[in-house]
Amino acid sequence: MAGTGAVAGVEFAGGTVIGGTAGPGTAGSEHDVIDPATGEVVITFQEAGEADVDRAVAAAAAAFPEWAGATPGERAGALNRLAQLLEERAEQYAQVETAQTGKPIKLTREFDVPGSIDNVSFYAGAARNLEGKASAEYDGLHTSVVRREPVGVVGSIAPWNYPLQMAMWKVLPAIAAGNTIVLKPAEITPLTSLMLAEDAVRAGLPAGVVNVVTGRGRVAGEALLAHPTVRMVSFTGSTPVGSRVMEVASRTVKRVHLELGGKAPFVVFDDADLDAAVQGAVAGSLINSGQDCTAATRAYVQRPLYDAFVAGVADVMRGVRLGDPQDPQTDQGPLVSRRQQERVAGFVDRARSYATVVCGGQAPAGDLAKGAYFEPTVITDAPQDSEVVQEEIFGPVLVVLPFDSDEEGIALANDTPFGLAASAWTRDVVRAMRATREIQAGCVWVNDHIPIISEMPHGGMKRSGFGKDMSQYSFDEYTQVKHVSLEITGEPRKDWHRTIFGDR
Ligand code: NAD
Repeated sequence: MAGTGAVAGVEFAGGTVIGGTAGPGTAGSEHDVIDPATGEVVITFQEAGEADVDRAVAAAAAAFPEWAGATPGERAGALNRLAQLLEERAEQYAQVETAQTGKPIKLTREFDVPGSIDNVSFYAGAARNLEGKASAEYDGLHTSVVRREPVGVVGSIAPWNYPLQMAMWKVLPAIAAGNTIVLKPAEITPLTSLMLAEDAVRAGLPAGVVNVVTGRGRVAGEALLAHPTVRMVSFTGSTPVGSRVMEVASRTVKRVHLELGGKAPFVVFDDADLDAAVQGAVAGSLINSGQDCTAATRAYVQRPLYDAFVAGVADVMRGVRLGDPQDPQTDQGPLVSRRQQERVAGFVDRARSYATVVCGGQAPAGDLAKGAYFEPTVITDAPQDSEVVQEEIFGPVLVVLPFDSDEEGIALANDTPFGLAASAWTRDVVRAMRATREIQAGCVWVNDHIPIISEMPHGGMKRSGFGKDMSQYSFDEYTQVKHVSLEITGEPRKDWHRTIFGDR
């Protein structure tokens, strides 16, 4: 039956988990989850529509008073049990994530799943450290208290590139702060979000705290954005859809949190450790087959190192092993879908008319042709205003360009509409400090590119959005601050009353 079945030994009862119960959506349409390594259907589910979103929001609203009133210790306890369940099912999570995305199993085993578990543990601790500002008598007449309160029902919409991690980044800070949530995962990769929602119930979170509705963006996504009971929307995805999210959410004046696209620069100064920069650029651009919002996409290399850098990167990229993502030896799996493969190929094909494709540049032939694979690719000689430099390709493609002065390198790094992440490569502390100060991005690494940690904020500037995921900073998004003011003199007549009813 459509919407049910097993993947890597995990049973799915449909594309939704509403009020703690898994089942099919009722939009009347079906969606295939496809293994992009083979093109085969992994599972077919019935899509969620407006009525499912309504039910999920009602379940979240019903669960809110109890969950918001739970003590920090109770919330932390449930999250600790969730971390334990994820740990026990880590291998299943890794296999299901690989089956729906094509990520190499070594990436899901060593990065996606452990990173997600660490996130749960972090928020279990953070839930107990959520506090308002200490009280004081600022005017001598009142005691002020700042309360940090949950926002209410949060609607979250997630992308397909890191389905489990993105679900975690949305769900965890929201529920740790006492909110309840309805998550709409990307329709092509819903499976690990569904597992998460079921494990949340097993961990003892009240039914309705975490709900998942899998449906199309235009249908289930927009229903969530427009729903009057939803008080906040948190979205991770592309910049054009983020703009649409803001537009729809504005009609009911929802709080909006947007983590959008990126086009991360990778700036190599002429005193950098060349070998480290070459290896960092390959890892930073090919992680998750380049489908990473923080991936290194534009390497600007100071002229003395330029030729050696291009040769070095191409050499390492040629050694990357494409293959079956379930094989632990595989370095790079397919892109997430045939559609994404065609999109990436389109950028590279068009670039041949104005730039040089140094290595890669096509879908591999032979056995891998059945999947959505694309070779690791280096492009040079592209003009700064060309689309491969300015737009998000979201594939294993690194553009390398030279620069002369430090000023020029930093100016080029800042010359796109995005501002999510960047890195600077230098052994000179003054250069490093300048680059980190002047590059406009939510994260600037020095002599590395990609590592993230639960304790530190992730989020963009410019058209990469606003708001922070992970870290204590995310509570600023998922809580609202209330000022409580208590009169402490007990006097019926206040001095300021003179301004209202004279000197009586
Ligand atoms: P996308 O914007 O196409 O879709 C994201 C989600 O939005 C999906 O769940 C989709 O169904 C939904 N959606 C689409 N149209 C909608 C609409 N009109 N109303 C409501 N929901 C709608 O993005 P994608 O292709 O899934 O993911 C890739 C993008 O995500 C890239 O741009 C990438 O940079 C970005 N991303 C950003 C971060 C970050 O932290 N900044 C992290 C991961 C991915």
